[in-house]
Amino acid sequence: MESGLKSLKNCRSFAILGGTFDPIHYGHLTTGEEILRRCDIEKVIFIPSGNPPHKNDRVVTESQHRGEMTRLAMEGYENFVYSSLEIEREGKTYTIDTIKQLRAELGEDKKFYFVMGADAMLLIDTWKNSAELLKICSFIAVTRPGYDTSEFISFVDELKKRQECDIKIMEIPAVDISSSEIREYVSKGESIKGFVPENVEKYIIGNGLYK
Ligand code: ATP
Ligand code: MG
Repeated sequence: MESGLKSLKNCRSFAILGGTFDPIHYGHLTTGEEILRRCDIEKVIFIPSGNPPHKNDRVVTESQHRGEMTRLAMEGYENFVYSSLEIEREGKTYTIDTIKQLRAELGEDKKFYFVMGADAMLLIDTWKNSAELLKICSFIAVTRPGYDTSEFISFVDELKKRQECDIKIMEIPAVDISSSEIREYVSKGESIKGFVPENVEKYIIGNGLYK
């Protein structure tokens, strides 16, 4: 197994949390904790994206750094697991390929939930092999407090008329921080204490990231 998932063979239910994680922060970690608290899921797998050349016109930090920060952030969280699966893969990564690889490595009989923002989920029809994806994987669509869920709920109702799928919606308590804000603080020499775990903060400073 190449993706850091050897220890998970005996588990039966997983949530997959993907992101650029440039850097990973307490917003991401809180989402993982809330999912463990409220769903019947044994492990949350954090998967940083491979190297997209650009995101919103900025150069994304090298995947080795983003991976290492994600790995460090897992410390102390018993049911969080880091996987380098997307970092190791060459070329563009699609969710369908990630889910297929996880199913192949961990067992086709296991339960997989892909976690994403409800607003991003509205665009699922544009994803590669979305019909197949909805068949082989369940979804947890997360929202922030105050998000109006009515559009999302009618979207899921329509989707369910077309095909069988399992989509839960879950409100995540607000953690008002983003990776972009963290990068900006670091570039200005301001503290990021409380936004990322201490070992991640040390890593950022020690490696001179975001300066
Ligand atoms: P950036 O500011 O660079 O866009 P980000 O903070 O949004 O970064 P990503 O790595 O892009 O972080 O996010 C991965 C996933 O986590 C996305 O689905 C995103 O919506 C979600 N997310 C980001 N910040 C938070 C937060 N504070 N609370 C809950 N979820 C979050
Ligand atoms: Mg974002």
